[in-house]
Amino acid sequence: MDCRAQMLQVIKLLCQERLIMGTWGNISVREDNHFWITPSAMPYTAIQTKDLVKINLQTEEAEGLWKPSSEWRLHAACYQSRTDCKAVIHTHSVYATAFAVAGAPIPAAVEDLIQIVGGEVEVADYALPGSFTLAENAVKALGAKNAVLLANHGLVGLGRDLEEALNVCRIVEKTAQIIVAAKTLGPLSAIDPADIQAMRQYYLTSYGPELQKEEK
Ligand code: 13P
Ligand code: ZN
Repeated sequence: MDCRAQMLQVIKLLCQERLIMGTWGNISVREDNHFWITPSAMPYTAIQTKDLVKINLQTEEAEGLWKPSSEWRLHAACYQSRTDCKAVIHTHSVYATAFAVAGAPIPAAVEDLIQIVGGEVEVADYALPGSFTLAENAVKALGAKNAVLLANHGLVGLGRDLEEALNVCRIVEKTAQIIVAAKTLGPLSAIDPADIQAMRQYYLTSYGPELQKEEK
């Protein structure tokens, strides 16, 4: 499927699952030497493929009908600093943003988060939305992981494709909910850093559907 058609499908899911509300949040996909990004402030119920904006990763020139998302620098910085990154989703989902407001990292306490993100979700230093500093702070705190929180703002999830970036945002939001619930039951139990490493490696190198025997 064309990556722009897939972007529309993912936008629909993000809205249905209330990971994106109103016009806050944006998504992009890398293709060759450019990326496609949602236009700024456009209601997601109205968006069509012709409304997506193309941004050249070298010149940072935008091409399209509309002004690109105000967070285009954040998306560009993810692609420029991480060659493995092929899709970026920025949300203001409720529980993840609660951690971002508290300045509290989401701990690496659950298997799926560890596998898909690579460890705890750190909080980048605060900067104004849309600013170059926000993009800079985000990639610094992101490191080699697949998610980062933006202080007093929201979440950035990325992936090797759009589906993975979507799952990163889903799993981070779910983990944030789990941590809040778990804390009401007692102290959290930590996972050994070596086990965190092992789970991440397993996910990156061998996690996927595999036939047990040849089909007849
Ligand atoms: P855009 O509507 O410009 O994409 O901005 C929304 C947002 O999340 C800003 O941080
Ligand atoms: Zn935002």
